[in-house]
Amino acid sequence: MSEKELICSFCGLSKSQTNLLVAGQDAHICDSCIEQAYGIIIEESKREDAKANDEDLKIAKPKEIKQFLDDYVIGQEQTKKIISVAVYNHYKRLFQKKSKNDVEIEKSNVIIAGQTGTGKTLVAKTIARMLNVPLAIVDATVLTEAGYVGEDVETILTRLLQASDYDQAKAERGIVFIDEIDKIARKSDNPSITRDVSGEGVQQALLKLLEGTVVNVPPKGGRKHPDQKFIELNTQNILFIAGGAFDGIERIISKRLNMQVVGYKNSFEINTNDSKNLLSYISPMDLKDFGLIPEIIGRLPVLTHMNNLDKKALRSILTDPKNAIIKQYKKLFEMDDIQISFSDDGLDYIVNKALEYNLGARGLRSICEIVLNDAMFEMPGSKRKKLNIDKNYITKKISNSNLSILKAAS
Ligand code: ADP
Repeated sequence: MSEKELICSFCGLSKSQTNLLVAGQDAHICDSCIEQAYGIIIEESKREDAKANDEDLKIAKPKEIKQFLDDYVIGQEQTKKIISVAVYNHYKRLFQKKSKNDVEIEKSNVIIAGQTGTGKTLVAKTIARMLNVPLAIVDATVLTEAGYVGEDVETILTRLLQASDYDQAKAERGIVFIDEIDKIARKSDNPSITRDVSGEGVQQALLKLLEGTVVNVPPKGGRKHPDQKFIELNTQNILFIAGGAFDGIERIISKRLNMQVVGYKNSFEINTNDSKNLLSYISPMDLKDFGLIPEIIGRLPVLTHMNNLDKKALRSILTDPKNAIIKQYKKLFEMDDIQISFSDDGLDYIVNKALEYNLGARGLRSICEIVLNDAMFEMPGSKRKKLNIDKNYITKKISNSNLSILKAAS
């Protein structure tokens, strides 16, 4: 064969039309075909990686999800179980091989009712960490209907995109935690509100998102960047977890339960003064009476609740989770070769203070900060390498501080 006639066996270009023609056995390949083939290899290996990830996710059975949660979230047994199943079903649905006549598995979005500081956000964070998917935490109170001052519901997805480094595929399998969902309840008992700026309108806007739809998402969020190009995001496989304190819902629950007891002449007795337990009877009907529209409730089909944290739970939160507060402080001091230890009476005292000031689990950290601040300031670089923190030490530090300020801020 003369050199003139040499052509690329893949695209047919002649040697003169290419920058480089590599010869093989009875065949040639040009530089641009090499580049293209290389691109295909990279794409293919990415797809393989994604498939491997999918398989990783598949492996996480409800019991394993619960076990992972146990390492980080203290107590809340029922909720951890319910969420583990919901998450498992969600990802089963995601990896379902679709055929025409298949049963359509619906989304298992979750709603958690419980006082602030009981671990609702922590549950969502821990699930996202386990599944290695992006998580966006958004506050429902800032959301408003389009046209009002505030944020459009689409900005929820902006956050998710940001959490995914703008990787669309990753974002589409992420988790969104909507905090304070109770604050967008319809305020029907307030006649002075003519335009329900942050109520029903926002709930309506959320509906589509929760159910699964393609949304045009402003990548920079907000309304300040009118020129930005939208990114299309499908919410079909995004898991939504909503949380709220639902202050006062106990009254609604107790009313319903009492009516049931009377109506059915049931001997089932509920101590209606026991507000701690009342939340465990929560039903979708109560959410409706609270002011969530039925459509929203329908799209958050998994309903669960968080128990208030008692002394035992708070004590355990201080020391037991994998990244428990006390473990974190010990680590911080260790970095300066300082060993700190806590006596049992000291730990109990911190818990009692958190309870006394009604600070909940969030308060544990604030109290530790107050107690340890002097040591964290003085000890690095000094000769002292050991510190035991007992009740006396803590009492002194707290009396020098103004812990009651925390109460006002909580
Ligand atoms: P919520 O979302 O219910 O208001 P968070 O999940 O934000 O509460 O909890 C606040 C902090 O309190 C968390 O960072 C965590 O350290 C601690 N905490 C709350 N509840 C628990 C729990 N059940 N187990 C472990 N830590 C908890």
